[in-house]
Amino acid sequence: MEEIKLSDLDSKFKYEIASQPGAENFKRCFACGTCTASCPVAEVNEDYDPRKIIRMAVLGMRKEVLSSDIIWMCQRCYTCYARCPQNVKFADVMEILREMAVKEGYILKERLSEIEELDKFTQDLRCNMVKYLLKPTKRQCNRIKSMVNRRLK
Ligand code: SF4
Ligand code: SF4
Repeated sequence: MEEIKLSDLDSKFKYEIASQPGAENFKRCFACGTCTASCPVAEVNEDYDPRKIIRMAVLGMRKEVLSSDIIWMCQRCYTCYARCPQNVKFADVMEILREMAVKEGYILKERLSEIEELDKFTQDLRCNMVKYLLKPTKRQCNRIKSMVNRRLK
């Protein structure tokens, strides 16, 4: 892990986050890791760790957090939200971090709607793959292929 320089930390970052609606409890996180243990994204991506993102934000690692690809990985399933013993509402915190990343020029505004579209697409793809798993027909297989091909264009 890279060395953290105190002079690079932004002590106001955590207060800015906590002042936004939905993130009022953000500083109450006591790093229990329940969010990470129950997150479907963390299950398939070892770099994705909600607990770590919160620690970085609390420490004031503004640039590292807002410029990171990781904040775009959350699929907003709200599992962590429901299970957090401190009512941190991580999915809302993530939305706030994304909006800050856009506002501070780390990423284009269009990415917000593109990520929403991608989430709908992956949910639709999942439903179609479940249908195929239960009743594997050529028609359903072609439908899935055409969905993926259209997305990759
Ligand atoms: S579950 Fe809540 S308290 Fe525990 S690490 Fe995650 S955000 Fe923090
Ligand atoms: S809302 Fe995001 S961070 Fe929380 S469990 Fe779902 S994918 Fe993981």
